[in-house]
Amino acid sequence: MRKPLVAGNWKMNGSSESNKALLEGILSKADTFSDIEVALFPPSVYLQQVQSALTGTGLSWGTQNLSQFEKGAYTGEISASMLVDFGCKYVLIGHSERRCLYAELDLDQCLLDRIIAEKYEMAVRAGITPIICIGESPDEHAVGRTEEVVLRLLDTVIAHQGVEGLAHTVLAYEPVWAIGTGRSATPEWAQDVHSFMRQRVAKHDKEIAKNIRILYGGSIKGNNAAPLFLQPDIDGGLVGGGSLDADEFVKICQAAV
Ligand code: PGA
Repeated sequence: MRKPLVAGNWKMNGSSESNKALLEGILSKADTFSDIEVALFPPSVYLQQVQSALTGTGLSWGTQNLSQFEKGAYTGEISASMLVDFGCKYVLIGHSERRCLYAELDLDQCLLDRIIAEKYEMAVRAGITPIICIGESPDEHAVGRTEEVVLRLLDTVIAHQGVEGLAHTVLAYEPVWAIGTGRSATPEWAQDVHSFMRQRVAKHDKEIAKNIRILYGGSIKGNNAAPLFLQPDIDGGLVGGGSLDADEFVKICQAAV
């Protein structure tokens, strides 16, 4: 049985004060979703605040990105060992906002996929579980290239790390056209892509495919989460906007129970 995971990606939102209220609001209802796993991804400057609030509560935390390098002259970057230092269990890798907004447009697509695979290796070596985000852009979606895009990234990670690496990984299908648009994928569409991804992993290793968690991300809210989470190959969600309000996020977590 795969334990559902709901991950709250705060992106570049929050302040010490608003985080405190959000954390208290979520924690006050934590007993209503104690059967699932919940992880929060604050901006890195608030890691310590989140770590102190969540330690001992059963909730986990992580960062929205990490460097593919170990240490050294990489201004603005954060290494895997720093994440370990702050008790991170998870890290997001390859989120579409990083791909699209930070140099990635200038990069050749294969190089980009390789950098993401290298970040993945850094996380796995440090004992942090990577949540690898995969999804097609609106243009790719319009011309029916979803499966091709999803496969390219999955195959790059497998080629780089071996399928065994996926035993300690979470995948997130995040169609870019659904992120922050209020237009979630339908449960049927998401299920089809999730099932396709699981089958691809199964080609390499059936056991790993059976156990790997695949999250859906893109405009999940309290009122659309339940039918998505009911799909057999959807094991929870990666939630952006819906994780910034305690009541909304709690509803989403409850829908995964
Ligand atoms: P959203 O973002 O829930 O605001 O669509 C999801 C994500 O980017 O992880």
